[in-house]
Amino acid sequence: MTISTSLVWFRRDLRAFDHAALHHALRQSQSVHCVFVYDSAILDSLPRRDRRVDFIHASIAELARELRQLGGDLIVLHDDAATAIPRLAAELGVDAVFANHDYEPQAIARDAAVAQALTDDARLWFSFKDQVIFEKNEVLTQTGKPYTVYTPYKNAWLKKMRAEPACLAPYDIEPHAAHLAPPRSPAPPLPTLAELGFEPSNLAELAIPTGMSGGAQLFEQFLTRVEKYDVARDFPALKGPSYLSTHLRFGTVSLRYLVRTLVDLMERGGGGDGAPVWLAELIWRDFYAMILYQNPHVEGSAFKPAYDAIAWETGPEADELFAAWCEGRTGYPLVDAAMAQLNQTGYMHNRLRMVTACFLIKDLGIDWRRGEAYFALHLNDFDLASNNGGWQWASSSGCDAQPYFRIFNPITQSEKFDGAGRFIRRYLPQLKALGDKDIHAPWLVPRMLLAQHNIVLGRDYPLPLVQHDEARKETLERYAVVKVVD
Ligand code: FAD
Repeated sequence: MTISTSLVWFRRDLRAFDHAALHHALRQSQSVHCVFVYDSAILDSLPRRDRRVDFIHASIAELARELRQLGGDLIVLHDDAATAIPRLAAELGVDAVFANHDYEPQAIARDAAVAQALTDDARLWFSFKDQVIFEKNEVLTQTGKPYTVYTPYKNAWLKKMRAEPACLAPYDIEPHAAHLAPPRSPAPPLPTLAELGFEPSNLAELAIPTGMSGGAQLFEQFLTRVEKYDVARDFPALKGPSYLSTHLRFGTVSLRYLVRTLVDLMERGGGGDGAPVWLAELIWRDFYAMILYQNPHVEGSAFKPAYDAIAWETGPEADELFAAWCEGRTGYPLVDAAMAQLNQTGYMHNRLRMVTACFLIKDLGIDWRRGEAYFALHLNDFDLASNNGGWQWASSSGCDAQPYFRIFNPITQSEKFDGAGRFIRRYLPQLKALGDKDIHAPWLVPRMLLAQHNIVLGRDYPLPLVQHDEARKETLERYAVVKVVD
């Protein structure tokens, strides 16, 4: 079908290469406009200093530059996207709007409303798979049901990927770029952060790379250490993981490109033991996106409904425990250093996400949804599906979650994964002087020794909020309501 004029709506796919919706629009239309909307329905709920808004703002500027270099332009609006898109489509007189699939319940509802408004106005709506390799019903069990356990899902995913190599093929843009609608004259400047109602965060200070160039740079760097990923990824003091999650969240990298590069590397005998482990992490991302799509009830309730019967701690004392966890003053150094990393940078290492989540739920007895919401507000890479999957894993209420009786010991985790205390020292300088053995549980260190280092517990660093062994017993009792069905 040939369309005269169309509009591509960029959302979590902020790049001008290997882009499904842009590719299809360019191939099918004579003239293609591009738009990004700072959605007031989302922006209004965010704190006025938000690293993600900074990240998007910088990435949008790069996307606009790139589209202009290709001969096109990016219209940038600050509005309610659900009404702004049909309005813009009418103003531009386009025949169709193209976008990539979004699997979050609110986004599905928004897109349905946009599609309906366009249809009512005799315009077309097209959307495409782009942010995952396999979506919705593409990977099913032999009986045709969605998977709920990761390992068989991963095996089926890998089998399908090998059988259908086209799933990794790039959606080229440049050869069709002549169909991009030229910039309006004069082109209005992009909105500044201040015009959007935001102040700069510390993103630039942290030197977090943004946009397509930032994603490419991080991936290039990661490829030089991917071989060791299987080992290095578990130690938060090491530069083990890729730090690509924010780029995957906002689509400044192409997942197809990452997987294609990795598969090529492995086929050439490269990537060591690390490459397949990293690929398995990307498959977790597809898995959780599929779980959210198939089970939208996980947003707000347990994947396994029996777990909604658990009675969590509530009231002022629980509120104080929660505040201490958020602010990194639990008295458990690894937990507190991890929360400091989150609060100061918007990133938290995967091992530490597991440790802090488990601590909140199983040492403090706090509802996992409170922790999930805190992460959602502070993580640069916040993604509803992966965040919810991670929290439901830690609370044992999710699909393929850790069993409820498996309770991380925060001291053992600290000794095992930050043995020399390098990560703890980075974020808790007040404990710097403690020895490698003592840094994991300062309250066990003789007071005289602490005094030698000028550390007074309760003044320089908190005493532990709870005793892990006692908390463990309470948790097992708390979870007794679900024992029968687990
Ligand atoms: P790498 O180790 O380099 O992994 C590469 C990519 O694989 C990641 O960027 C991510 O896209 C994907 N990935 C890795 N681990 C997972 C996983 N367990 N589940 C799903 N995808 C994964 N990830 C998010 O992207 N957004 C979130 O909001 C989020 N919240 C989490 C909450 C909890 C409680 C837990 C336990 C995990 C959460 N994760 C989340 C998963 C994981 O911690 C991060 O993806 C990872 O730490 C990001 O760092 P990286 O890009 O350096 O990871």
